[in-house]
Amino acid sequence: MTRVVYVNGRYLPYAEAGVHVEDRGFQFADAIYEVCEIRDGRLVDETRHMDRLERSLGELAIAKPMSRRALGLVMREVVRRNRIRTGLLYLQVTRGAAPRDFPFPQGDVTPTLVCLARRVDDAKREARAAAGIAVATQPDIRWARCDIKTVMLLPAVLAKEAAAGAGAQEAWLVDSAGFVTEGASSNAWIVDGAGTLITRPTGNAILPGVTRRTLLDLLSREKIPLTERAFTVEEALAAREAFITSASGTVMPVVSINKVPIGSGHPGTLTLRLRSIFHQVAELSH
Ligand code: PMP
Repeated sequence: MTRVVYVNGRYLPYAEAGVHVEDRGFQFADAIYEVCEIRDGRLVDETRHMDRLERSLGELAIAKPMSRRALGLVMREVVRRNRIRTGLLYLQVTRGAAPRDFPFPQGDVTPTLVCLARRVDDAKREARAAAGIAVATQPDIRWARCDIKTVMLLPAVLAKEAAAGAGAQEAWLVDSAGFVTEGASSNAWIVDGAGTLITRPTGNAILPGVTRRTLLDLLSREKIPLTERAFTVEEALAAREAFITSASGTVMPVVSINKVPIGSGHPGTLTLRLRSIFHQVAELSH
């Protein structure tokens, strides 16, 4: 079956889909994106992803490519045409195409909208969760507006590449004061000796993860103690459990940081419980 990609009003075969060479997303990373989990052919936490997408667009003064309702129809059509039950949906909006110049183009530029989806092997992802992942720390060299989900991802690419070279599946980024900000493509969490969850508060230093936000709902429902504060790498190394959250992995156990085992060196019991009940509180689209 041919994969189908939505680009600026058209559903095209994967190999033929493309954008203009002077698209500002390509030239300046003048673009934002979203990644949404697809489960049972439905979108997970669509409302929160759309809220964040609109916020990102607003912060950068990029025009909305279409109404929320129309965008919802495009996303569903991409899932449907690709017949995806379990996977990920990727949406990107750029400021549009214009002759290369730094300031925003004058007049009406049409934002570029790309939407694609891909299958995820659920068995592989579950095997990964059962084993837990290794994390390596890297200095956080990103900019001061990490709360905006831009495609300016080179620092994350470099951090992940370095982590992979160290045998790890994720990088935890560390600020100049020694505190973990977040993962290169995930939010970072630990569980202390008293069973309290600790994660960094939202602000300019991290992306406000949708999975993070939904997990907060779950924690309050389950009456699990939580402290939103920054934690150091040393604290993380001494933690009872650690995990990351993201739309692509939901709650994913971390079993080592810089090759030091966390807790028992196996996925934590609280982490696995949260993973198993996460979708009870997440929104599923119709
Ligand atoms: N932080 C960063 C830097 C990310 O790239 C991501 C994933 N896009 C997250 C956190 C997790 O966000 P979400 O739960 O919305 O996928």
